[in-house]
Amino acid sequence: MKSTTRAVVIGGGIAGCSTLYHLTQEGWTDVVLIERDELTSGTTWHSAAQVTNFGMNQTMVGLKSHSIALYKELRDDPDYPVGYNHGDGGIRLANDARTMEGYRHFASMARGMGVEYEVLDAAECQRRNPLISTENLIGGLWDGEDGHIDPAQLCAALTRRARKAGAEVVRHNPVTGLTQHKDHSWTVHTEQGDIDAEVVVNAGGYRCNEIGALMGVHHPVASMEHQYFITDAIPAVRDAGHRIPLLRCPISDYYCRQEKDGLLIGFYEQDCKTWGMDGISPSFTMDLCPDDLERVSDVLEGAIARMPVLAETGIKTIVNGPITYTIDGAPLVGPVPGKRNAFCIIGLRAGLGEGGGHGWLLAQQIVHGEAVYDTWCLDPRRFTGHGNHELTALKAIEDYQNEFRFHFPHEHRPAGRPVKTTPLTPVLAAEGAAFTTVNGWERVDYIKPSAEFSETHSFRFTEAFDVVAAEVANVQTNVGLTEVNGFNRIEVGGPAARDYLEYMICGRVQHRPGRVGLGYMLNDQGCLKSEVTVANLPDGRIWLGSAAAAEWHDMDWLRAHAPEGVTLSSLTNDYTILLLAGPGSRQVLSRASRGDWSADAFPWLSIREAFIGIAPAVVMAVSFSGELAYEIHVPNNQLYAAYLALRAAGKPLGMQLFGARAVESMRLEKGYLHWKADILTEFDPFETGLERFVKMDKEFHGKQALTRRERGKKLVTLSLDTRAAPAHPGASVVLDGKVVGTVTSGDWGHRTGLNLAYAFVEPALAAEGTALSVDVIGRQVPAKIIAAGPYDPNGMLTKS
Ligand SMILES: Cc1cc2nc3c(=O)[nH]c(=O)nc-3n(C[C@H](O)[C@H](O)[C@H](O)COP(=O)(O)OP(=O)(O)OC[C@H]3O[C@@H](n4cnc5c(N)ncnc54)[C@H](O)[C@@H]3O)c2cc1C
Repeated sequence: MKSTTRAVVIGGGIAGCSTLYHLTQEGWTDVVLIERDELTSGTTWHSAAQVTNFGMNQTMVGLKSHSIALYKELRDDPDYPVGYNHGDGGIRLANDARTMEGYRHFASMARGMGVEYEVLDAAECQRRNPLISTENLIGGLWDGEDGHIDPAQLCAALTRRARKAGAEVVRHNPVTGLTQHKDHSWTVHTEQGDIDAEVVVNAGGYRCNEIGALMGVHHPVASMEHQYFITDAIPAVRDAGHRIPLLRCPISDYYCRQEKDGLLIGFYEQDCKTWGMDGISPSFTMDLCPDDLERVSDVLEGAIARMPVLAETGIKTIVNGPITYTIDGAPLVGPVPGKRNAFCIIGLRAGLGEGGGHGWLLAQQIVHGEAVYDTWCLDPRRFTGHGNHELTALKAIEDYQNEFRFHFPHEHRPAGRPVKTTPLTPVLAAEGAAFTTVNGWERVDYIKPSAEFSETHSFRFTEAFDVVAAEVANVQTNVGLTEVNGFNRIEVGGPAARDYLEYMICGRVQHRPGRVGLGYMLNDQGCLKSEVTVANLPDGRIWLGSAAAAEWHDMDWLRAHAPEGVTLSSLTNDYTILLLAGPGSRQVLSRASRGDWSADAFPWLSIREAFIGIAPAVVMAVSFSGELAYEIHVPNNQLYAAYLALRAAGKPLGMQLFGARAVESMRLEKGYLHWKADILTEFDPFETGLERFVKMDKEFHGKQALTRRERGKKLVTLSLDTRAAPAHPGASVVLDGKVVGTVTSGDWGHRTGLNLAYAFVEPALAAEGTALSVDVIGRQVPAKIIAAGPYDPNGMLTKS
């Protein structure tokens, strides 16, 4: 083994092999993969190795398409052809209309990535897969690209190509330690000696937390036992005349693919089992867990009912092995939180299908700092400190039990809740709050009109529509109060702080004490990295505020670029915002807090330190709703006191509580954007309609790249001609049958009576008045481009 290299990839499963190969493709050829045993000896060797193109967002679809294209290339390589059955096709089944609507949405979303799914009725499902019955079935989603691959050959082919490009692969060599140096480089300690590297990559599969521990990091990854069996030969399979398509069943929780002349059936039983919670034996390698078919009997019954041929077929082989899950089911592919020059590609639960694409996106991040797609849905920093072992296990179980049941819009499943709360959470629950979750925080979604009220999650407007409408009406005509917890708040200090912010933010930076302003940080490509409010407290302190989920992401970015003389400290978990909004909000504030809160004394974008009742607070005159509004930042230990003072002050006005759903509706009417919904690393501020926040006559991070960039898309606001459903993120915008754009956000604007959406479209089609259509759950809905922010376009209300 050499003694220095650019990157050490730890682990030789599909994740490590794909990363190694793609690093060489991105131009880093001096790279080393270190494997404790043989390649694939973790989970990869015994994988069912199905490769599908289905994803629930465009990043997932795009990376899976990359896997498929790469695997086809490897299959066709005459020097080392990999066994890959591509194009067997596959069906995801459905027995209810809501699931079918979801499939129609995913088909709309995938079209934007050049991938065609088909929505089938039950008879057509059976025609394509003659083994299934149509009992209790209304249809399915067809993915023509589905197939399966030989895992060992795949990994061998990838490392073979990487080696040819200059990479080294070292087997039978456990990594035993990691030391980071002042210049952020690493020494990787192994049984065969030390190797110095600029960058390390954790691709350790179910042992990822052993490797994490070597650098003092815990990853929210837990393993589950997962079983499949392979049947004896089945005449109906042999005689079908074509390969049997894959099957995924959210009704009875199993999957199936053809294996030789028989079938391979895998199960997601309800009585499932975590694995390795208290450590993993060092000798567990090329190994399996004991068979336990008893455990899957519940779901096996469903599989037999769907494929009666199974009842008379023998079982040839049973495989039970560990499979990794994260808190939200998606892998962790990207920078290791809080560490420089460290990356991970872990928590893969469909690593054979996705691994080609994940390695591709990770190598781009390592070499270029960013990937072709926005990778937030995979970013290891999307969970923060709450992602502990116990919570991860609970979410892993829940996800395993619901493997093929996608989340509906606004659906947040119950396991491991509540995680992050404030003193107000139980108070608001007693007021009837329904909660959404944001980075683990329980945040009020809306106030239920009665204790019995419940929402049927759907891609259409739901029972909550009228509830949200009433909350918006109250905010528009009277005054409302809500809590915004978890808002990311970083105090920036030191003599160089202001120069640093000038450089990090691409527009005009507000520096006046007592004033707040909005700004954007760009990445090395000149695209949008983060959105921050710069709050200059009257006493000279500077708070940078950003989205709740951005806590670790923004801190990593700021730390990586902070020069000597700048200090950064997180106050995220110390304060919570109480949000007063509506024409009566000044009156409520004046009753709750001494001082002159008139528009002259405390105008729009002002900041003041004050007491709300007896609770100290920082009050900011800012609004995300478009109404006169105040953000009141209160230390958590006095949050309840401030809340009581505001409730008492609001009582004579009939102040009502409201939630995040109402805010979502109102911000769309104002043209305001959401980080990681509409503000993405794939687009620059000009494409995103944020040109007024760019100051080209100063130096800032990303300026040169921004100057050189070719613009591809433009963010527009659409008004849709339907009252049935909102446009969901990912939905395709269509003109003359051709996809010309993609929706990023959509919701009903209750004050304007418009069904609104934001979408990135081709610039030639971005003019106001352009008529397009949006594919909303399978229907082509007429849509027109309108001016952004149709509610109170001149912003008179916020300044009133
Ligand atoms: C029964 C079953 C069926 C499956 N079916 C499918 C399927 O149909 N389709 C699909 O896409 N996915 C499937 N999966 C999931 C898929 O197999 C995994 O997502 C994938 O194999 C994970 O690959 P990996 O590289 O992340 O981990 P692994 O394959 O576990 O690789 C990690 C490697 O890291 C090495 N390592 C660990 N610690 C160290 C150390 N300290 N030093 C050096 N090396 C180290 C290990 O030895 C191991 O080789 C299935 C999983 C199971 C269990």
